[in-house]
Amino acid sequence: MTADGTMTVSWADFRAWERQLTTCTHPIRLRGRIDALDLATGELAPVYDTAAEDGGVLHVACGNRRETVCPACSAVYKRDARQLVRAGLAGGKGIPETITAHPCVFATLTAPSFGPVHARRMRGKTVLPCHPRRDANARRCHHGRDISCPTRHAEGDPRLGQPMCGDCYDYTSAVLFNAYAGDLWRRFVTYLPRRLARLAGVTQKMLHAQLSVRFVKVAEYQARGVVHFHAVIRLDAPGEDYQPPPAAYTADLLCDAIDQAAAVALPVEHGGQVLMLGFGTQTDRRPVRHDTIVSTGKPLDVDAVANYIAKYATKTLHAPGVPDTRIRHAAEIPGLRCSAHYRAMISTAWDLGSRQATGEARFRQWAHMLGYGGHFLTKSRRYSVTFGQLRAARTSYRRAQRHPGGERDPWGRPLDETVVLILSTWTYAGTGHSTATPGAELATASAARAREHHGQATTR
Ligand SMILES: [Zn+2]
Ligand SMILES: [Zn+2]
Ligand SMILES: [Zn+2]
Repeated sequence: MTADGTMTVSWADFRAWERQLTTCTHPIRLRGRIDALDLATGELAPVYDTAAEDGGVLHVACGNRRETVCPACSAVYKRDARQLVRAGLAGGKGIPETITAHPCVFATLTAPSFGPVHARRMRGKTVLPCHPRRDANARRCHHGRDISCPTRHAEGDPRLGQPMCGDCYDYTSAVLFNAYAGDLWRRFVTYLPRRLARLAGVTQKMLHAQLSVRFVKVAEYQARGVVHFHAVIRLDAPGEDYQPPPAAYTADLLCDAIDQAAAVALPVEHGGQVLMLGFGTQTDRRPVRHDTIVSTGKPLDVDAVANYIAKYATKTLHAPGVPDTRIRHAAEIPGLRCSAHYRAMISTAWDLGSRQATGEARFRQWAHMLGYGGHFLTKSRRYSVTFGQLRAARTSYRRAQRHPGGERDPWGRPLDETVVLILSTWTYAGTGHSTATPGAELATASAARAREHHGQATTR
């Protein structure tokens, strides 16, 4: 910001803003002008003025990744996530296709049990009874509740994930797991190369000279309200050119190392004792391209994996009655119209944030997320392309279509560094579509189209 209240902006930023596709359901409205300044002559020329737009404002997409907040922007993000994951599995977008030959594993790391919950258990295609107990004496917990359930639960049964007895359920550990799941994952990522080195019989130093572990992972809420992680983990040679690692590092070796690293524990102090947080024992991992998905029997191919990961990149907690935003007061919790189980998770998180418990702000800050405050999609450097690269490619494609002869500055010369863009009188004019424009209806319609289109793309 300069003394006279103006700001400079890069041509790249300007490109990204200019005439954005406002399919966004509640865009940010901006009003202002951009001028170009010739640094050599001091001459100023207008480049863009929102006065020329319908309603006199520029609609900038909100860019929110959450499906429940903005269907249009999250659809764009999901598409990018899908391309990003796919490029790391099959190549493309600047990643060599030889990447398909690298050892690559799709892994799921779950939380341990915090008490029995209603579950849809399967053997092949048969749904098994939830918690059958023939022995009448074993049917009641020490609270006197019947903890048996002979039901073969259908998919989407609202009882799924609910504890058999809320008093027996270990809510504190469940919320602590969510709160520290991100730390646990980072610890897993730290241990993985060490386990690989040991299995391959080399020192860690040698391993780092031969190998880079690269991944993309998403967090998903299970019905019981605890997160678990799905990850694509791949082995490359170190460096930026995506070369294969030495042949000794196979997908099977990677699977074994994942099993060992998943046994990692994270000590957390609570109530005067040290709790050891860890993943559940049911680590699912399978080499991509050589295995099948048990539930569907279909080959675990790159598109299936990319769709699966992208699906969770835009979904956060998806449950009726759970608030979208932060809880500010404890008094809000009893009135929440979500399930009693989720309400108990939220109130446990709230209590864990008290000064007497942990005093850590994150518990209250993320109480509405049942304690999980981490990112929904994370990746290592050089898994594949970045979201930024995908966005830039999209903008320059659009730009090239609009300016077939290449871009020019206001004086008709090809762009270079002697001309800078200056933002003047740039102000925020609200969010949502301004009523003066017919854009709102259009945006709703195109958001619906985007959803439909995406639905078709994923069910293929
Ligand atoms: Zn949006
Ligand atoms: Zn049940
Ligand atoms: Zn009980």
